[in-house]
Amino acid sequence: MDKKTVVEQTEKYYLPVFGRYDMVLDHGQGCKIYDNEGNEYIDAFAGIAVNSLGYNHPVLVKAVAEQAAKIMHCSNLYYTEIQAKAVRLVAEATGMDRVFFANCGAEGNEGAMKLARKYGVSKSPTKYKIISADESFHGRTFDTLAATGHDYYHVGYGPLSPGHVLVPYADIKALEAVMDEDVCAVLLEPIQGEGGVHVPSDEYLQQVRTLCDKYDALLIFDEVQTGVARTGKWFAYMHSGVKPDVITFAKGIGGGFPVAGFAVPERLAHVFKPGDHGGTFGGNPLACAAVYATLATIRSENLVDKVAEKGAYFMEELLKLQAKYPAKVKDVRGRGLILGVEVAGEGKPVVESCLANHVVVNCTAGNVIRLVPPLIISKEEIDTIVAALDKALAAL
Ligand SMILES: *Cc1c(COP(=O)(O)O)cnc(C)c1O
Repeated sequence: MDKKTVVEQTEKYYLPVFGRYDMVLDHGQGCKIYDNEGNEYIDAFAGIAVNSLGYNHPVLVKAVAEQAAKIMHCSNLYYTEIQAKAVRLVAEATGMDRVFFANCGAEGNEGAMKLARKYGVSKSPTKYKIISADESFHGRTFDTLAATGHDYYHVGYGPLSPGHVLVPYADIKALEAVMDEDVCAVLLEPIQGEGGVHVPSDEYLQQVRTLCDKYDALLIFDEVQTGVARTGKWFAYMHSGVKPDVITFAKGIGGGFPVAGFAVPERLAHVFKPGDHGGTFGGNPLACAAVYATLATIRSENLVDKVAEKGAYFMEELLKLQAKYPAKVKDVRGRGLILGVEVAGEGKPVVESCLANHVVVNCTAGNVIRLVPPLIISKEEIDTIVAALDKALAAL
């Protein structure tokens, strides 16, 4: 099909919920993607922080292809070797003991909140409140929507699920004011992704931990975007030394395959009794092959350390841009390979200018250029991305 036909046919049949770029992607290789007219782009977006190993990583491709030929799905009523292997690697990477697999970030967060509710209500019938933060993003199902702190996503869906309380992010006083014995969980992103790459202080996270301990509330870190080496540690919580009670993961963990879930320490392993939670597809053999190949490759290629190093380099280069365009760049922030450049005014022209120069970046929260490239990005590719941003800023 030519580009026009693809666009028209999609627009005719797909629900019009996405604002799409006028590009038809055909294939990828490393950190580059190609449209169906043969144009090459360097990708600093990775399909929303998903393609951790870039495109077509041979280990991941082989693992998924071989597993597809063997057995794709068999339900969780049986054991498979690949699930045994994957679940162990996830437990080790998260620093937790027990893992549950789901299919997307929202579903991982739903499961984590259900576990927290069960934990709370088993102690007291009124211990069901879940606190989350303004400008957070936790998903689009009814409950994750209620936990998501952005009015934009709420409009038209009321009444929202009850039992959710929102407070300003990185504001310990605000959290303290709503904490009581009826709180079963505090759900936070250790770095807010969609909200504009906001990095809270370690001190804040430590204080949140203390409050959760005081009121016996579970601390859930939504690491859907920050997990799986993205920040230069296996999971973002490892920077602060604040260990949550529940970690949720998704985006990068399957290297592009849709798979997600949550992990807990042994003491929470039996909050759910058999039958209390489940899913038909979660952790099926194909998903587990993707998870195993992705995590094993991050390990064997030492990507955690490389992300820390490349992220530091990327940050330095972005700070140089800020120094060059002090009136246009309001802030540069992030950690590892989740970086945000807050520009004065709209971010859209920057994204479009980069695209015209064959570099894919994203804008979130209106004016924050979000850079979440594949974890395997090279310094040369970072230089190309920075050069495109430089041009875009010059033209603003
Ligand atoms: C993307 C995202 C989600 C939702 O994940 P889906 O796979 O789209 O359901 C939840 N939390 C965070 C922090 C995210 O970045």
